[in-house]
Amino acid sequence: MNFQLLRIDLIAVCPEIFDSVLNSSILKIAAKKNLVKIEVHNLHDYASDKYRHIDDTPYGGAAGMLIKCEPVFRCIESLTAERHYDEIIYMSPDGKKLDQSDSNQLSMLKNIIILSGHYKGIDQRIRDRLITREISIGDYVLSGGELASLVLVDSVVRLLPGVISDSESALEDSFQNGLLEAPQYTKPADFRGLTVPDVLLGGNHKLIDKWRQEQSIDKTRKLRPDLLVD
Ligand code: SAH
Repeated sequence: MNFQLLRIDLIAVCPEIFDSVLNSSILKIAAKKNLVKIEVHNLHDYASDKYRHIDDTPYGGAAGMLIKCEPVFRCIESLTAERHYDEIIYMSPDGKKLDQSDSNQLSMLKNIIILSGHYKGIDQRIRDRLITREISIGDYVLSGGELASLVLVDSVVRLLPGVISDSESALEDSFQNGLLEAPQYTKPADFRGLTVPDVLLGGNHKLIDKWRQEQSIDKTRKLRPDLLVD
C-alpha cells in the first residue's frame, strides 16, 4: 500500500539530542519504511557572524539569553522557499498543552516544521511572524525544546498508517476514544499465583470487548475523571 509521506523539519540549538531517539525503535522503522522523512537543522548554521552567535541579551534587562530573530528567520525562510508547510510549530511551555487529538490531526499533514527554543526562549517577533502553532508538553519548564519536540514527533509518527504493523493497536491506545486503556495481560496465565481475568482466556470476543469497555470506563473514572466530563 502507498501512504503519504510526512516530512518533519526539526530546528534546534542542540540537534545532537535528537540522534539516539530518531535512530531507535518506531521512529527508525518509520523512516526506513519511507513513511516519514525527518530533516534536522542546526540553528548555528544559520547564524550571520563568524562566531555563529544565535542568542543575545533581552531588551529591558532580564536574566538569561534569548534566541535572535536572524538565524530562525533565515532557517525557516530557506525551508518555506522550497515547499509549503502546513504548520510551523514552536515548542513552548506557554503553548497549547499537547493531547492525542493534536497528534492525530498533525499525523494527517504533509509538511511540518518544529522549532525548539533554548536558553530563556525566543524573540517574540519570531512567534508573531513565523509560527502558526505553539505546543507545550506540560506545565513544567525544560532547558530546551529538543526533548519536547521528540515527544511530539514520536506521538505523531506512531499514528502514521503503516508504522505500527498491527494498525489497530495505535487506535486502541489510551485517549484515542477519550478513555484510558483497559488492563492488559500476557503469558503465562498464572504467574506466582497472580492470575489473568477468566474472561480474557475464554476466547469469547463479544464478552472480551464488553469487559474491556467496562474496565476502560472504570479506570478512567478512577484515574482521570476529567476525561469523562463533557
Ligand atoms: N522563559 C520561558 C521558558 C524557556 S525554556 C518561559 O518562561 O516560558 C527553553 C525552551 O525549552 C523553550 O524555548 C521551549 O522551546 C522549550 N520548552 C521548555 N519547556 C517546555 C514545555 N513544557 N513544552 C514545550 N517546550 C518547552
